[in-house]
Amino acid sequence: MNLITYFITIFFITFLFELAQSQEGTTTQTSPSTSAYSCDPATCKPSNNCQCASANPPNGLDPKDTPQFVVVTFDDSIQDGLYNTAQQMLNVTNPNGCKAKGTWYVSMQYTDFSLVQQWYAQGNEIADHTFTHVGNPSAQEISSAKAMLHEYGGIPLNKIQGFRAPFLNYTAETFKQLSQQQFSYDSSSSASSDSDNFWPYTLDNGMANDCWTGVCDTNLKLPGFWEFPMYAVMNNASVPQLMDVYLSGSPDDVAKWSMDAFNKHYNGGRQPFGIYVHPTHLSSYPGLPDPKPLMDGVVNLIKSLSEKKDVWVVSNQQILQWMKNPVKASELGSQPYMKCQQPILPSEICNGLDDNNSGGIDDNLLNNCNFGTSNFKTCFNCPSGAPSVSSPTPGSSTQNGTAGYRYPVPENCDPTWWDPVNQKCYCDAAATNCQYKNMAAETNKTSTGNGGSSDASSIQLPVIQIALSMTLVVLAALY
Ligand SMILES: [Zn+2]
Repeated sequence: MNLITYFITIFFITFLFELAQSQEGTTTQTSPSTSAYSCDPATCKPSNNCQCASANPPNGLDPKDTPQFVVVTFDDSIQDGLYNTAQQMLNVTNPNGCKAKGTWYVSMQYTDFSLVQQWYAQGNEIADHTFTHVGNPSAQEISSAKAMLHEYGGIPLNKIQGFRAPFLNYTAETFKQLSQQQFSYDSSSSASSDSDNFWPYTLDNGMANDCWTGVCDTNLKLPGFWEFPMYAVMNNASVPQLMDVYLSGSPDDVAKWSMDAFNKHYNGGRQPFGIYVHPTHLSSYPGLPDPKPLMDGVVNLIKSLSEKKDVWVVSNQQILQWMKNPVKASELGSQPYMKCQQPILPSEICNGLDDNNSGGIDDNLLNNCNFGTSNFKTCFNCPSGAPSVSSPTPGSSTQNGTAGYRYPVPENCDPTWWDPVNQKCYCDAAATNCQYKNMAAETNKTSTGNGGSSDASSIQLPVIQIALSMTLVVLAALY
């Protein structure tokens, strides 16, 4: 290649890289054009697993009868400190007494798979965020992450339904891959104005969000595959903020922007409202300033939203189940996918739960897998070598029939009921003696839910905190 071609190539790669970086950031593009999109609700109905993009609730539900969903999503690897941060954010109760649920878009590097299993065991959602965290990911980047979540986290393949593109950098090709690989939905697009604040919809008629990227002009039609737009909030200058909004202003500002955006949904079409977090920004690290003021702001926001009697803090997978069969808010609490039950077991098994109430989870049952940079704990067999994109689940280090072998979860057993050491399912599809405990607490939500108020933290953001935040943004972007 000659020198000019070389420089043009370098320039182009740099441009693409910066585009990708900017998309992982906090702002989104404006002025979407949805003119290319058309969908006939008379033929596209939930009963056909079809849903038109719409700002109104599905099935003609009256907004005042419609549950107000709030999704809190977490991106990137699952590690101890990050896991604790996420737990603190979901420490609120839904109107049926069950704890709030969230969705984690998991990338593989640095992920501890015993925590993947714990997150799932508590009724939260595990979703795919590629192996190495690359934008515009290859088919293998997507499939390798799913394979590892299944192999080392024990998550059933049919429960890994969602995907988010790293840096929110996706193409039409990404969606085609997701659909081919049996995913149910993507959540990488943005909704940043009144003209594209849509409920989740299927791609039977193509995309209706992010049209500025050209994705709406392609022949991207994927019947039954869902898009869950990410909903932006507006800052003081009316610039849309999407992820990690708490990094974009003082806790007071962020609380106000968020409540304004929430109230637009709540008093409008009841579209879900989203809080999209990289937990690394909100977790403490030795030697770095305490992120508590930022964390308090987010925790208080979630608390004040969840005080309303028709607000439900749920995973995207729970919303998907509701979208397929929409019911009134008053009927939501009794839907099977909204219940919170845990197995009653005779002793501790390696299932991500504290079965014997010892105060510890999976006591002395976890395997430690160490491969230099990829160290993790798991209830299952360690691989014989470090997993990679091309070989995400190398053969097991322990052979079937030898001491210490862990048995993979069979398809007819949920991992919360499976003892991988003794190859026993305490509640398979045919069993009648499964014993559950109901985890729901008494609730008495009396708020009339007219919105507008916020008790979010009034702690001022010190300059040092802003500096820390910016450093972390840079680190996270590189990471
Ligand atoms: Zn990410």
